Amino acid sequence: MSETAAVSTATLRARAEIDLGALRANVRALRARAGGAALMAVVKSDGYGHGAVPCARAAVEAGATWLGTATPEEALALRAAGLDTRLLCWLWVPGGPWRQAIEADVDVAVSALWALREVTGAARAAGRTARVQLKADTGLGRNGCQPEDWPELVAEALRAEEAGLLRVTGLWSHFACADEPGHPSIAAQLTRFREMVAYAEEQGVRPEVRHIANSPATLTLPEAHFDLVRTGIALYGISPSPEIGTPADLGLRPVMTLSASLALVKHVPGGHGVSYGHHYVTPGPTTLGLVPVGYADGIPRHASGTGPVLIQGKWRTAAGRVAMDQFVVDLGGDEPEAGARAVLFGPGDEGEPTAEDWAQACGTIAYEIVTRIGTRVPRVHLDAAPRVHAGGDAEVNAGTGG
Ligand SMILES: *Cc1c(COP(=O)(O)O)cnc(C)c1O
Repeated sequence: MSETAAVSTATLRARAEIDLGALRANVRALRARAGGAALMAVVKSDGYGHGAVPCARAAVEAGATWLGTATPEEALALRAAGLDTRLLCWLWVPGGPWRQAIEADVDVAVSALWALREVTGAARAAGRTARVQLKADTGLGRNGCQPEDWPELVAEALRAEEAGLLRVTGLWSHFACADEPGHPSIAAQLTRFREMVAYAEEQGVRPEVRHIANSPATLTLPEAHFDLVRTGIALYGISPSPEIGTPADLGLRPVMTLSASLALVKHVPGGHGVSYGHHYVTPGPTTLGLVPVGYADGIPRHASGTGPVLIQGKWRTAAGRVAMDQFVVDLGGDEPEAGARAVLFGPGDEGEPTAEDWAQACGTIAYEIVTRIGTRVPRVHLDAAPRVHAGGDAEVNAGTGG
């Protein structure tokens, strides 16, 4: 079997279609919201499950001038794919690939003295000047330098800057509760951020960019935009929280559509237990449909009995437990053929559930729904106004519009 055939048969079972046209439109909408601030496309964790490289390319085409990742390995993979946009990565542990990051022109985040020492050591070894962004903990209580420790970190960074080992390119922080507009911590963090930036600038730091806004702050808090906004979830067309609005309210369009082909449709009598544990028992004679994706594909086991699927225009619900590779829906006597398309989530305009619907069905957030879709599900990247049919050759159609 040719490689192409193997790929196209994998998409028969299940596929995550990624609408790059929607992603570009989301980038444009977010840039308009961000006013004069530059936009960083956050493509950590494989672009929130959407494919980091194609999403990064599309975001840059639509005007993102920075890319962001959590790990240095994610950043280096973008460089290896030929993306040469400014790129910040922020989640380091001792012994990390500082030198490779410096040589690949990656901006690195530093929250503590140990990291500053590792990066200056790597810069000396490489004979290059590292680009360092100092991260302040303004109240999140996660990564970042505490206000008490900031003077020492700033002083040491300035000494390394004078020695030519690094340039402080950014001063930045991250919100705890930006997805809860009006939360008192938001104003407190902004005040603290301004103070910590002012202190560093008084000492002589000349950052290119100061930044604190994630998607919710980009959407709701203009005073938090500073020089750069770091948008993740909103790029992918998902609202950071229902409290902030629906994607449509925010001018965004969901990018991922997850669908599968029914593997079996069969008649069963009433009183028939369904899936492990028999947590669902058919209330009468009915038809069952087998959806061939399970928790190994990232369908939460918490969706047992609750996860929604659109099949032939009707919402069905995961009947009984979600298993590793499959779950069952009660089709109530309908008889779609094996191979019929089951849409787990998408933008919602054809009546299908959304990632937010899945989040609510599972007691989680939509971020977790899209990022956990497994590697066994092929990502099919579509360019411009896609229309893809179950079992169709979407990759071949990509870019042709229609
Ligand atoms: C993930 C992340 C972001 C993006 O957050 P969204 O809410 O998805 O926009 C921004 N900054 C940092 C430090 C992050 O870890």
